[in-house]
Amino acid sequence: MAFSYWEREGLLGRVDHVVVGAGIVGMSCALALRERLPGATIRVIDRSALGDGGTTRNAGFACFGSPSELFEDLEALGKDAFLELVERRWSGLQRLKQRLGEDGIGFQPTGSWEIFTGLEGVKSSARVSRCLGALNLLLEPVLGPDVFRPAPEAARAWLAVDAVHSPLEGIIDTAKMVRSFWRLLDEAGIERVNGLEVTGFEEGCNGKGVRISTPHGSLDAGQAWICTNAMATELLDDLGKVLLVKPSPNRVLVTEKLSSLPMEGAFHSERGYIYYRTVDGRILIGGGRHWGHDKDWVYSSDGKQALSIMVWDNQLIDFISDRLGYKPTIEHRWMGWIGVGKKRMPLIGSASDRIHYAVRLGGMGVAIGMEVGVSLVEHGLGAKM
Ligand SMILES: Cc1cc2nc3c(=O)[nH]c(=O)nc-3n(C[C@H](O)[C@H](O)[C@H](O)COP(=O)(O)OP(=O)(O)OC[C@H]3O[C@@H](n4cnc5c(N)ncnc54)[C@H](O)[C@@H]3O)c2cc1C
Repeated sequence: MAFSYWEREGLLGRVDHVVVGAGIVGMSCALALRERLPGATIRVIDRSALGDGGTTRNAGFACFGSPSELFEDLEALGKDAFLELVERRWSGLQRLKQRLGEDGIGFQPTGSWEIFTGLEGVKSSARVSRCLGALNLLLEPVLGPDVFRPAPEAARAWLAVDAVHSPLEGIIDTAKMVRSFWRLLDEAGIERVNGLEVTGFEEGCNGKGVRISTPHGSLDAGQAWICTNAMATELLDDLGKVLLVKPSPNRVLVTEKLSSLPMEGAFHSERGYIYYRTVDGRILIGGGRHWGHDKDWVYSSDGKQALSIMVWDNQLIDFISDRLGYKPTIEHRWMGWIGVGKKRMPLIGSASDRIHYAVRLGGMGVAIGMEVGVSLVEHGLGAKM
């Protein structure tokens, strides 16, 4: 349905900046634009009612990586880029806490544990134990001394082979975080429009600026900031900017309230591909991307997806049943999308002078997301914030 005159001219008239995607990155970008440009008109557009990416659907880990995940990053990136990535995750978390407040994100400094299980766990715990001292030394300039220490008590609690603890990570309440973002956007006079899909961009047809296409008509802006994460290629490939971002589904289950929990906190396993945490007397468990079900989601029919979901859920349930010693009832299940690539480094850049992007936030976007939003504005407008 075409926009009405009132919608086109009054509600969706030209603004200085349009941010596409109301996830952590898009909302942080809009807030950073407001800090830099107090008088500018800014609008955030999202195609879904609440956001259909990771921001409202994540597991609420405030994390920078478990030892075996960090070893993978180190191998993939090399020492300098690895330290830069950890530093950005860590400073993103600090920014999030400062800007939204610890209460505003429901932060609990529970610490976190990497839990090693099964035969694979025996091998990887041996490898991690051998290199833990070296990893702590490497991370010391960024995170301080002795970030990780052996935690046999956690291994016992979760019926596992071994465990390693970090006191620095924690958990958040994702809903509180999103609400706090919405409050800050409203206070900063930033418009929010939901349920409007952006389908393309055209430059130069409205004097100077960008014309933004939607299924209902076009909107004009001075500059556009694309923060659509996993779905980035839908928009950026059309601009001749072929990015290596693959949407990858992530599954989350939440148990019923349990009569007791072995421990409270945040737990990673199988190189971070499985994660679980406590929430309101329940266990939330998610991940399992390494089992390969994401292939069915991108390329196959609904029938195959349904089968794949059943197998996927059962694998997650088996994992947590083994940790608890019994099979819990699952009360909530959902899917969300992350943007992945060969490396776990977000992509920040420009398709032109007026169209900028920050995308490919993998599984730790809660941590690094605000830092990426601010870096995008620094990239687009120049100068550090
Ligand atoms: C199940 C799951 C669990 C996770 N758990 C954690 C965790 O515990 N800790 C952690 O640090 N990270 C976690 N993550 C990752 C984290 O949530 C993401 O990295 C982060 O939210 C990404 O933020 P974003 O703003 O880049 O993108 P998103 O939150 O994905 O937002 C992108 C937005 O763009 C919108 N959009 C897309 N295309 C268009 C278009 N054409 N027009 C208009 N709007 C569009 C989408 O609707 C979406 O709202 C998890 C992710 C998932 C899926």
